[in-house]
Amino acid sequence: MGRGGRRGAPLFGVTGDLSKQSIMATSSHKQPRPPLFGLVDVNNFYVSCERAFNPRLANVPVVVLSNNDGCAVARSHEVKALGVKMGAPWFQMKELARQHGIVALSSNYTLYGDMSNRVVSILREFSPDTEVYSIDESFLRVETVDHLYGGATAMGQAMRRRIRQWTSLPVCAGFGESKTLAKLANHLAKKNLVFDGVCDLTALTDAQRQQWMAKIEVGEVWGVGRKIAARLQTMGIQSVLDLATADLKLIRRQFGVVLERTVSELQGTSCLELDDLADPKKQIMASRSFGSMVEDLAELGEAVHGTSAAQQKSCGIRARWPVPCTCSSRRTDSGKQTRNTTPVWWCRWPMCRMTRAHSPWRH
Ligand SMILES: [Mg+2]
Repeated sequence: MGRGGRRGAPLFGVTGDLSKQSIMATSSHKQPRPPLFGLVDVNNFYVSCERAFNPRLANVPVVVLSNNDGCAVARSHEVKALGVKMGAPWFQMKELARQHGIVALSSNYTLYGDMSNRVVSILREFSPDTEVYSIDESFLRVETVDHLYGGATAMGQAMRRRIRQWTSLPVCAGFGESKTLAKLANHLAKKNLVFDGVCDLTALTDAQRQQWMAKIEVGEVWGVGRKIAARLQTMGIQSVLDLATADLKLIRRQFGVVLERTVSELQGTSCLELDDLADPKKQIMASRSFGSMVEDLAELGEAVHGTSAAQQKSCGIRARWPVPCTCSSRRTDSGKQTRNTTPVWWCRWPMCRMTRAHSPWRH
């Protein structure tokens, strides 16, 4: 369903009393309001999912490791406080883990995907205009529904309570006139206890908003990467406030239309709409690593079968006709990576059987 038809319509049908007074009250809600975006983000998502099923991990330093336990892909705030960076290799932090009792867990992406779906389904009950931005973040349009909760801040707190109660996951919510401001508000809510997990920038005065913006580095802005941040800093644009008050024409000339749009968004002009439907994917990759060197062709074939099946499932393919798949293997020896082979074959859902004609090995 497109957004246009829903905008301005009440979430719940107005029934019963059709007196003149109630009709007038209802029609006043149909005055178009400027867009108000929310961003809801689960804190330390993978770690929080693990804690939801193992309460003994609460208040314990926890890291979740990537496939085959290579490096940290999620850290509890206790681990962040110890200075462990995202992506830090596990073998480098073993000593630190021993000293501070860090619990390391293998990742469980099936669980995380399921928990993510639960959170999104709760958010859709609050606002049907929801864009799933990543596994732990969703944007919402709330200007037509926030009055049902008494404002965006109260709505954010209601979301936090319900998600916590139904999934045990902690979330923070940020609200602003644009997606970029909602992202910024979420950052503020996460980093500053004074907001109690929910920051609505539209509820702040201009002076308060500028104070907060002046405290945040420009590199924290959504869409400003490390290289652009470094260039901006050489131009004297250090904080979010500096960027928000920068000359639009200068930004466009130096960085292009994308950053100009970001600056407009920071100034409160919404330039980015919600994406209801994700673009069709041109490529889907499923990858697995072996814990040790594999020499046996049958063992390799079995692993490729499993990986292909996972890939087909990701594609949502239920077709009976053959589907082209590409397999590439990569061998890692003492830090050196070499891409060896790229055989191509055909396989079928659901058994993902490669045909003899194309398969590089026999079944
Ligand atoms: Mg998160």
